[in-house]
Formats: sequence, C-alpha cells, structure tokens
Amino acid sequence: RGGQMERLIPFAQPGNLTKVLAVASGKGGVGKSSVTVNLAVALARQGRKVGILDADIYGHSIPDMLGLGDARPTMVEDMIMPVPAVIPSKDDPNVTHDIAVISIGMLKPSRDQVVAWRGPILDRALTQLLADVYWGDLDFLLLDLPPGTGDVAMSLGQKIPSSEVLVVTTPQQAASEVSERAGTMAHIMEQKVLGVVENMSWLETLCPHCSKTHRVELFGTGGGRKVADGLTERVHYEVPLLGQVPFDEALLAGGDRGAPIVAAAPEHPAAQALEALAADI
Ligand code: ADP
Repeated sequence: RGGQMERLIPFAQPGNLTKVLAVASGKGGVGKSSVTVNLAVALARQGRKVGILDADIYGHSIPDMLGLGDARPTMVEDMIMPVPAVIPSKDDPNVTHDIAVISIGMLKPSRDQVVAWRGPILDRALTQLLADVYWGDLDFLLLDLPPGTGDVAMSLGQKIPSSEVLVVTTPQQAASEVSERAGTMAHIMEQKVLGVVENMSWLETLCPHCSKTHRVELFGTGGGRKVADGLTERVHYEVPLLGQVPFDEALLAGGDRGAPIVAAAPEHPAAQALEALAADI
C-alpha cells in the first residue's frame, strides 16, 4: 500500500472505553443476529452510543433487520463511514440516536456475490472493518460473529483481547453442546465470557379450552442453564444465564420488516426480556 501505515484498531488501545461485545453461538438459526440487533436498539434507545459490526460471513442479516436494505458505506478521505440506523429515543420520540452499522456483506461488490472468506483474507477484512471505519466514540461495539468456533472468533480474540463474549443458545440440548464449545473457545482466547442468553425459550399461547395462557416449550428446556453451568465449570468464574427470550412472531416479523421488536412492540414479553438484558450489560 505504497508505504502507507496501517491504522491501529482503536478498541485495542489502552484507555479506550468502548465495551466490545461479541455475540457468539454454536450453530446458526438460534437467534444470534436477532439478539445482537435488539440489544443494540435497546441500548441506543437509552441514549448509548452503539456500533454493530456484522461479521457473520454466512448470514450477514444485520442490515436487513435494521431496514438498511442495500445501503453502502461512504468514504470520507480514506475512512469508511458506517451506515446509520436511526432509532427513536425511548423517552422522547422526537429525539433519535444513530447506530453505526457495518456489515462484512457491504464489502461485496454485489448482494448475491459469494465470497470465499478464508483465513488471511478474512483476517484482513476484519482488521479493516475495525481500524478503517470511522466508528467515533462508542459506548458499545457489538459484533455479530459467524456461528461456531471459527476463524473470525479467533481472529477477534487476538485483535481485541478485552472483548467479551455473549453466548446465544436455544433450550435444546444439541444446541447447548455446540454453544458451550463456542464459549470455551472464547476462554482459550482469554476473552471474558459475559454470560448466556437462551432464545426461543417458550411460546405463550392462549389455550382454546381453558382460555388461560400456557407456555409451550417448543425446543425443550434447560439449554441456557446447562451452557451457563458448563462454562462456569470450565472458566472457573461464574458465567450467568443473563436472560430467556420467548418465541414471538412479532420478533420474527420485526426482523423481516427491518423494525426490531424492542422499538416496534416494546410491550411484548420478548421485547422486555431483551430490554432487561440491555440494562444488565
Ligand atoms: P442466527 O443469527 O443465530 O442465525 P437469526 O437471528 O437470524 O439467527 O434468527 C433466525 C430466525 O429466527 C430469524 O428469522 C429470526 O427472525 C427468528 N427468530 C429469532 N429469535 C426469535 C424469537 N425469539 N421468536 C421468534 N422468531 C425468532
């Protein structure tokens, strides 16, 4: 690069106050991106400065979930400007806060292009997204990691050792085993495991016979607790189960519409669980 100096990753510098939180899961489809987006929106609604780096090379669904469509970052001189997602404040709907969004998918020449993100290329792309993006002063940077214990998670652990990891799982035993491995990986990279979120814990339905609401446990029970306990044993400090988010069609619809449930339907139990999670971290 013509003798040009490589930029440092701001979040890895001493004195940097941004809390970097990587959201990890053992496998896809457990709601990792949904949790990331809603957590970011809940924090932004409280007036926190939030950035999201969508590093899920297989999914990169974050821009769609925030209604950003095919928006592309702009360049100012040689810095990449993140795409803003405009979020109304919780206290005053006339006030808005921007979430700074960058997705690894935005680096692709076209939406449908498949890029073989592998080893060194991926590592390079991740460094660029951390160092060459104008993130500004953030309170939180949330990273949506690809599922599993792959290259990106390792690379991030090396680049920002102070980043903490949030593990998302479903109540299902099979899901919990793989997510425990993802958490163990974070520990090996000397990252703190902040806690576990169990998603799709139950579905509340109105019983047609007795007209009371019942909890239907769609994916079994106990996965979140099991991952938290399993990780606690491995890392030798307490890894808490930070929350349980019920299955909610409004969460799914909100994701598809680009209107995250914590802002679109804050009265729903799923939104409240995510809101409580944001207050906790
Ligand atoms: P991952 O990032 O783990 O692959 P996503 O967040 O993309 O998972 O979620 C997978 C699908 O499940 C999406 O369509 C999403 O809207 C839906 N989903 C996630 N969590 C819930 C929930 N609690 N209730 C209903 N649908 C959910």
